[in-house]
Amino acid sequence: MKLSKLFVPTQKEDPADAVVASHKLSIRAGLFRLLTSGVYSVLPLGLIIKNKVEKIIREEMNAIGGNEFLLPALSPNELWNETGRLEDFGDIIFRIKNRELVLAPTHEEVFTSISRNYITSYKQMPQMWYQIQTKFRNESRPKSGVLRGRQFTMKDAYSFDSTWEGLDASYELQEKAYRKIFTRCGLNFFVVSASSGAMGGTKSEEFMVESDAGEDIVVISEDGKYSSNLEVAVSYVDGVSRKGTNLAYEEFHTPAIKSIEELAGFLNITDKSRLAKSRVFVIPAKTEEGKDKYLLTLVCGDDEVNETKLQSLFGASLRPGHPEELMDITGADAGSIGPIGIKGNVKIIADLRLQDADELVSGANKNDYHIKNIDLKRDVQGIKYCDIRTVKEGELTLDKTSKLRVTKSIEVGHIFKLGTKYSVALGAKFLGKDGKDNPIIMGSYGIGIERIIATHIEQNHDSNGIAWSGEIAPFKVILINITTQSKEITEYCDTLYKELMDKNVDVLYDDRDDLRPGFKFKDADLIGIPYQIIVGEKNFKNGDIEFKVRKTGERSIISKSDLSAKLNELLNA
Ligand code: ATP
Ligand code: MG
Repeated sequence: MKLSKLFVPTQKEDPADAVVASHKLSIRAGLFRLLTSGVYSVLPLGLIIKNKVEKIIREEMNAIGGNEFLLPALSPNELWNETGRLEDFGDIIFRIKNRELVLAPTHEEVFTSISRNYITSYKQMPQMWYQIQTKFRNESRPKSGVLRGRQFTMKDAYSFDSTWEGLDASYELQEKAYRKIFTRCGLNFFVVSASSGAMGGTKSEEFMVESDAGEDIVVISEDGKYSSNLEVAVSYVDGVSRKGTNLAYEEFHTPAIKSIEELAGFLNITDKSRLAKSRVFVIPAKTEEGKDKYLLTLVCGDDEVNETKLQSLFGASLRPGHPEELMDITGADAGSIGPIGIKGNVKIIADLRLQDADELVSGANKNDYHIKNIDLKRDVQGIKYCDIRTVKEGELTLDKTSKLRVTKSIEVGHIFKLGTKYSVALGAKFLGKDGKDNPIIMGSYGIGIERIIATHIEQNHDSNGIAWSGEIAPFKVILINITTQSKEITEYCDTLYKELMDKNVDVLYDDRDDLRPGFKFKDADLIGIPYQIIVGEKNFKNGDIEFKVRKTGERSIISKSDLSAKLNELLNA
């Protein structure tokens, strides 16, 4: 490809709204253009890369028996109501105003609806179906370029099995294929266990890339054996010890004390573990006639309650109580709530660390008052103890063999064992070996295409631009003619370009006229093609050309006659 013909609108300036490197560089290198918040046009150079990523994905999906589909982006509300997800997705889902249609954020419903019409017997399974298609999600405040778009391309795959062992096998096939895909895409990734969230199901894992640009927080052990999304991470941590003094609890005045920090200061103590932190959560009623349920959570003052763990304990979505609700239920504002003397009907869940605790301090359910010497076992009836805290940096793995690190990461892929959630909701049944009707057992497996590109840039760039590595580089080599005014040099470059093309070397030829060498060098570094062949007057006179490795910046002057061997060595490596 000749750069004079390829539309690559590079720019010097970072886009004003960009914070993360991949956002800045992907716009500056002319891969994408913003249309409106979270919506990007893919420009020709971006599309070359995107097509390479998709080719890798297709190859790996086909290798595990995947059937490629292409489903519509529009789908009827009716279908989403069958699973209840029109409501569950809330504002994330784009609805069409003048029709009963949505722009699909994912395709479990549509794929399952196809399976319910065509898969009728265990003999037709397993099936592995996938597509590479546009998804629409009304993400709030998208701000990281194509890392989080409102419209983006996803490879989504779905497995259909007649047995749970079959699901395990399909899941494993996808897991292995994902490892190959991300390796071929040049990403340094790891896998974490994750919450299944709105998708439902029994097991899910995320493919993560450590990066400051990430919005997920993960926990990794120093020995690399444990990794988990913070939302579901567990650790070994000491419980609060029992003092056994059996002091009676008593209320005391704590004027204007609202936070655990203020309370610790007021009591002049540094160990906050005995200051029980209380929060109220609401599980909204499922029907209009139903009643909301209330939870009071208790964790140590130096811990935070983990909402995802709470959600999975109750198998329901929940939300923090509003100030009026707190006052109604407990009789106090947020800073003065506690487990003793609650007015309303509230279920109390305490973290495991508090299981044996006594001499605890907590709010008195009366503004500006706290209670001390609380012995949960003695003083509060009906508490349920569960792991509801968020893991912290420096804690140990459950087996106490390694320290945990908490870090930011980008989720590039997600695999789920869905089980029968969608097949039951949509009535996708098959006739089993036992002669009975059974729901199809499903898995779902997603990868964000643009997110792979952006993540690759996050991991492969420097202050001059992108430095592609591996298979998804838009080209392997850029041939730069810096002396286009010389007929001799231009003829040499034209011939070399032709030769490289004939040898199937993936080459971009910067044949643009009337540009200063410095401008061409800057563009080449910004676009980030791995190898640069630079042809200019000075070296050419001596029968030489310059060769540069983009990533290391290493330059060498080599004889024209050695170029072929040099390229062979590098491209075959
Ligand atoms: P996130 O937690 O980042 O919002 P998700 O868990 O909602 O993502 P999934 O439904 O698991 O995403 O989608 C599968 C894959 O699609 C993700 O692993 C990610 O690579 C990609 N993806 C999801 N949302 C976006 C988005 N808004 N922009 C770009 N890629 C996305
Ligand atoms: Mg996900």
